[in-house]
Amino acid sequence: MNYIGRFAPSPTGPLHFGSLIAAVASYCDAQANNGKWLVRMEDLDKPREMAGAANSILKTLEAFGFSWDGEIMYQSHRMDAYESALESLRRQGVIYPCTCSRKEIADSATSTGIEGAIYPGTCLKHATQANIHAALRAMVPDESITFHDQIQGIISQNLARDIGDFVVKRADGLFAYQLAVVVDDAEQGITHIVRGSDLIDSTSRQIFLQRLLGYQTPRYAHVPVAANANGEKLSKQTMAKAIMPGVASNLLFEALTFLGQQPPAVIKNATTSDVWRWAFAHWQLNNVPKLRRIIIED
Ligand code: GLU
Ligand code: ZN
Repeated sequence: MNYIGRFAPSPTGPLHFGSLIAAVASYCDAQANNGKWLVRMEDLDKPREMAGAANSILKTLEAFGFSWDGEIMYQSHRMDAYESALESLRRQGVIYPCTCSRKEIADSATSTGIEGAIYPGTCLKHATQANIHAALRAMVPDESITFHDQIQGIISQNLARDIGDFVVKRADGLFAYQLAVVVDDAEQGITHIVRGSDLIDSTSRQIFLQRLLGYQTPRYAHVPVAANANGEKLSKQTMAKAIMPGVASNLLFEALTFLGQQPPAVIKNATTSDVWRWAFAHWQLNNVPKLRRIIIED
């Protein structure tokens, strides 16, 4: 089978248990299918980046014994590609400038979608003020987009009702994640996306953009995210201690257990290469819990 998977961390902090789960799931699924596994550094949002995090994430992945194919792609080097995708959307007449502030949107919105206020299309009705930096929004259709998630089942969303016209380039000049991820997945020939279910509600936007840009839609599998007892996504617990000998295998055991793979206890004290050998041979996407989130101790 032709299989190219990927792990796409954002360098907003060191690798934590939540992102380790996404890395393990995408890596095992790629290896179990004799596929390639690529790493892409999503360092698009410079204001949110933490200095040194990109290198720390890569070092930690190495300490866990991950090995990726090819060169790492850095989104910060991909501005030309995003600009030409934007140009294609512009030619198709599906993007428009928006100068509304968050407050203006909150005050004028008449409906709420899954991520809050639905943008009411204010800037479509009047010329935008030339002296204000504008964001660019994609105009979404009032029809449902459906895909079959390999873990979560049939997912259907109507972008007009559930999301609204969304930003593809921010007013501060940064390209939005939704646009960049689609352009890069296509450029890297990604066939299978295995990632955390916190991104499942973004998938319809991404499929919508893939269709406009003439890209193939990959297969999707959204694994549960680890949450604490308050239901918050885990993000503080860092994996930096994995550099210490013996710790990585323990954490891989935890991640594989979280993913429903039932690794044997001997894995905890094995070398990372023994852990991976076991994991690639026994990986079953079907055994991943069909849940959006699982509560674990923080
Ligand atoms: N960079 C995103 C994150 O760390 C993941 C993007 C993706 O997997 O599509 O949340
Ligand atoms: Zn506006």
